[in-house]
Amino acid sequence: MQRGAIAEIDLAVIAGNFREIKKITNNKRVIAVVKADAYGHGSEAVAKRLVESGADFLSVAFCDEAKALRLAGIKAPIIVLFDPDPKDVFDYDLIPVVSDKNAALSLSKEAEKRRRVLPVHIKIDTGMGRLGIIQNTAEDVVSIAGMKGLIIDGLMSHFSDADAGDLTFAKLQISRFKDLIKTLAEKNLNPKTYHIANSAAVMSLSESHFNAVRPGLLLYGVSPFESSNLNFSSIISRFTQAMSIKTRLVALRKVPAGTPISYGRTFVTKRESLIGVMSIGYADGYCRLFSNNAEVLVRGGRIPVVGKVCMDLTMIDLTDIKHLATETDEVIIMGRQGDEFISANELAKRANTISYEILTSLGRFSQKRYLN
Ligand SMILES: *Cc1c(COP(=O)(O)O)cnc(C)c1O
Repeated sequence: MQRGAIAEIDLAVIAGNFREIKKITNNKRVIAVVKADAYGHGSEAVAKRLVESGADFLSVAFCDEAKALRLAGIKAPIIVLFDPDPKDVFDYDLIPVVSDKNAALSLSKEAEKRRRVLPVHIKIDTGMGRLGIIQNTAEDVVSIAGMKGLIIDGLMSHFSDADAGDLTFAKLQISRFKDLIKTLAEKNLNPKTYHIANSAAVMSLSESHFNAVRPGLLLYGVSPFESSNLNFSSIISRFTQAMSIKTRLVALRKVPAGTPISYGRTFVTKRESLIGVMSIGYADGYCRLFSNNAEVLVRGGRIPVVGKVCMDLTMIDLTDIKHLATETDEVIIMGRQGDEFISANELAKRANTISYEILTSLGRFSQKRYLN
């Protein structure tokens, strides 16, 4: 039998989420972020569907990811966010994000060597504190603009907390970005594309949309906001989570009261119990913090995880299921069954992390099955 879980990815849902983003942004150009294997959804299938749906650019973290998309036959423009390799950039026709003068210089050298002109996007650090040219040093941008073989096609920045309840800092980042754009315009530098809005900003800050937006998480139908942030709940309800994680039982056991379950005996049955053993564990990205601390769906009901999550297996307590479960029952780790829904954000909260980490870890290890 196949190990682990199945990640069911609904591509029509991703296309629908894309259309919602177009509506919210008044039809701005969309740079669809498909880094980290499209947040665990499988970048090849997802990228193809997003391009068909009208995505203007794809965007990945590293050149290797872009290379894989090119080898899969994807011809759309691809922006490489981090550490672009000059050779790959030309060999695979990629658009590099340039974060400093040194990177620009090596791209310029390669461009000269090949007698080519390379469009680049320049990254400005307006407060994320990660990569990019510090926002008040327009000279660096000007000197990159003067390098042979490079054309500045885009200017971008990145928010540190556009998902926060208090958007003061995000607004400061926007104003720094605007100031720099103005300074550059005074020096006759007018790139074609300006982009700073991630998923949270697509929803929370329309003044950040400029002429392109750069969402990831929202394409996959997951809210970038904490559930306590109710400001955007009506708009979030227009999006649908595209990934479900399903698994099966490898055993169903009737055990007497007083039976300890799993490593460390952290759960002991209080009554005669029906314990299901699921084919998923931390090696499949089902985090150990779910030990005695998560629910799954079986026959439309919420069923608790009991005992420690193991490497390949995890136990659940099915005693309260009215109509006896069978070993062939489908178990939903994340997703919908009947009226119940387990969201990536619910799991994230239980594991003290964010939905991004839940999607990438559960998606990475699961066998993928595509719908629609
Ligand atoms: C990951 C990433 C995004 C997308 O962020 P979401 O919160 O998933 O929308 C946008 N821009 C950059 C630079 C990123 O690294």
